[in-house]
Amino acid sequence: MVSPQPRIDADPLRHLRASLETMLDAVEPSIARILDRSLGGREVTAEEGARLFEADGPALTALMATADELRRRANGEHVSYVVNRNINFTNVCIKHCGFCAFSRDHREEEGYFLPLAEIIRRAREAWELGASEVCVQAGLPPKMEGSLYIDLTRELKRELPDLHIHGFSPEEVLYGAIRSRCSVEEYLEALKEAGVGSLPGTSAEILDQAVRDRISPGRITVEQWTDVIKTAHRLGIPTTSTIMFGFGETNAQRSAHVAYIRDIQKDTGGFTEFVPLSFVHEESPMFFRKTVEGVSAGATGAEVVRMHAIARIMLHGWIDNIQCSWVKEGPKLSQLLLAAGCNDLGGTLVNESISTAAGAPHGQLTPPSDLRRWVRDMGRVPVERTTTYAVRRVFETEPDEPEPMDAAKEHAAELFGSYHMLIGLEEWRYEGQRAPSLDGPTWAEVQARRKAKAG
Ligand code: SF4
Repeated sequence: MVSPQPRIDADPLRHLRASLETMLDAVEPSIARILDRSLGGREVTAEEGARLFEADGPALTALMATADELRRRANGEHVSYVVNRNINFTNVCIKHCGFCAFSRDHREEEGYFLPLAEIIRRAREAWELGASEVCVQAGLPPKMEGSLYIDLTRELKRELPDLHIHGFSPEEVLYGAIRSRCSVEEYLEALKEAGVGSLPGTSAEILDQAVRDRISPGRITVEQWTDVIKTAHRLGIPTTSTIMFGFGETNAQRSAHVAYIRDIQKDTGGFTEFVPLSFVHEESPMFFRKTVEGVSAGATGAEVVRMHAIARIMLHGWIDNIQCSWVKEGPKLSQLLLAAGCNDLGGTLVNESISTAAGAPHGQLTPPSDLRRWVRDMGRVPVERTTTYAVRRVFETEPDEPEPMDAAKEHAAELFGSYHMLIGLEEWRYEGQRAPSLDGPTWAEVQARRKAKAG
């Protein structure tokens, strides 16, 4: 007698496909056609992407479901994060980007510049708390020592050879090269040799020169940004990629930006992830002081969902990792975005300054256990990753003991300080430094003086 065999489902996804098909039946045909084709593996053009930004009602639901299905095909049920710390070592900057509430002019009261010992202390503390990465970015101080980013990287790697340095935006790389009177290529080669592991693909905003000239005149141009990124990729330095949205740009500009990133990726393969960053308007000069006309008060929830979902759909097959930023979107919307194409929650950050300065209310640190809870709440499996998406640990269940960074959260203000404290401190005030001083007061001394002052 032949024993019964388990039934092998020839097409385990047919139910899902059937429900997506039903969903698409209820959607306006020009949008349904684009979504249907993207599920069939066809690339979405920039024009089609712009059309998807008009999805509403049932079309928005279908957009999310399509992005979620493509996410599942690329990443399965894993949702990743990285244990890291931001070190924004100075807020003094020669540029005046309209969206930036972080930077201070060199004459202003609130300019700070961390001493080298403090930068290293922050990195060491992060390493001891389980971080695998420090993300180093800052303002562009006047008359800066051209080799500063290279020297800083070398010092950090000398002290902490296994810590990944994710450092220096294209704007900073270009500034370093200009101040050193060398080419971008030469500068990047030196940074790589010093130990930089990857570059943040920030300072992109929208890669449309007319938009940049309006919101941040004098900012790195589209051509220069592309040159830094492509050169980094050619030298074997991976980068992330980003978009800033929700300040009043058009759907066509958003979509063209994503298509532009995709074209670079086809050429170089050097992007590790794409991160939509929604505009934080509250303290941003171009909104708050109305320095630029027609700036809107950030993206709506639906726009945030569309942006992440469309990024997943347009980049499918080229960039597998779509990150949502808890700093910008908060925990609840971030969770929803995990059902709209995202597979990554970014980092623990510890000292987030840039969005905090602009008025984002979601804090400076999210410990790993909180990130994992958000993931599990959505029925997915948390994974700690490296900067370049190697798996460090899959958390099928929670560890028995709290990790060091979870335990540290209880004393976060005392241990890590805060952005608002930093801009108020006398000890690390910017006084025309061209590079971090070697003998500035330590954090322990700063703490002791603050306590003494408070009585
Ligand atoms: S975004 Fe960067 S370059 Fe522009 S003002 Fe802010 S710190 Fe300076």
